[in-house]
Amino acid sequence: MINKLAIIGVGLIGGSLARDLRAQGLVGEIVGYGRSVSNLSLAVDMGVIDRVANGARAAAAGADVVVIAVPVASIGDVLREIAPAIGTDSVVTDVGSVKQSVIHAARTALDERFANFVPGHPIAGTENSGVGASLEGLFRHRRVILTPTDETDAAAIERVQTLWQVTGANVVLMDAVEHDRLLAASSHLPHMIAFSLMDTLVRLDEHRKIFEYSAGGLRDTTRIAGSDAVMWRDIVLGNREALLTVLRQYHEDMEELIAAIERSDADWLVDTFNRARHAREMLNKS
Ligand code: NAP
Repeated sequence: MINKLAIIGVGLIGGSLARDLRAQGLVGEIVGYGRSVSNLSLAVDMGVIDRVANGARAAAAGADVVVIAVPVASIGDVLREIAPAIGTDSVVTDVGSVKQSVIHAARTALDERFANFVPGHPIAGTENSGVGASLEGLFRHRRVILTPTDETDAAAIERVQTLWQVTGANVVLMDAVEHDRLLAASSHLPHMIAFSLMDTLVRLDEHRKIFEYSAGGLRDTTRIAGSDAVMWRDIVLGNREALLTVLRQYHEDMEELIAAIERSDADWLVDTFNRARHAREMLNKS
């Protein structure tokens, strides 16, 4: 049971988590804080939070659990702000999509309360933002990765683990370096491809006609290009090295594809497409 839960950043992820925890009867009061008044008022109207605090520190004061669900580059600022309000037994966690940079910021911001911080990342979401896009059941049967350090308090890890398990998620513990490397390939690269593909198309003179004559292929491939630009700016800059490694690999593979088309290499194309098709079947089963 959580008597007071503070959600800082009541958007898609923070709002969805609050909704699940309330639905499961796990929380007493849910206090929210964020940026725009309009989003926070909507969160109250929707019953996602009980009230709005007048600052991040006020939200965190007396909270058993504080969830930080703002874009990753802002997590350090929020942690610095709430640090004096974190009680000895309070647990602070985040949902940021990159982990090493967040852990680095948390260590500096929290100082002696760093052990109370459990870095986390739910592998679930949509391309929509704000509390209006929040969904009950978003995390059911999805993975949540926690990346505690050697200094993280064992009881705090267990508490955050339980919190996510209540939403129906499967919680796994992982090293932050491995998390950032895996997510660079599984999530960050596909987003880069979707953003750049749409940007390439929209800069073609005939883009309106191209969109008009597009079918499911373009829509399926680029759904995630509708994601929030600031959130993705932060993820890219927060996971720069791992993302660059996999982006460079992708760039090399695109050069190979171009070369194969230039030399009309039918065998290369069939082999490559078959390998990709097989990989897609593996993805469906995983
Ligand atoms: P979101 O829907 O835009 O929610 C973020 C909320 O934080 C917004 O309500 C925003 O306020 C507020 N906010 C932004 N900057 C703030 C600041 N400096 N101080 C206080 N509040 C601030 O975004 P989201 O999709 O929930 O993403 C939140 C976090 O979850 C990010 O770190 C992201 O990397 C991570 N994540 C996202 C997904 C996904 O699929 N979207 C999946 C897993 C993890 P306004 O409403 O006023 O803009």
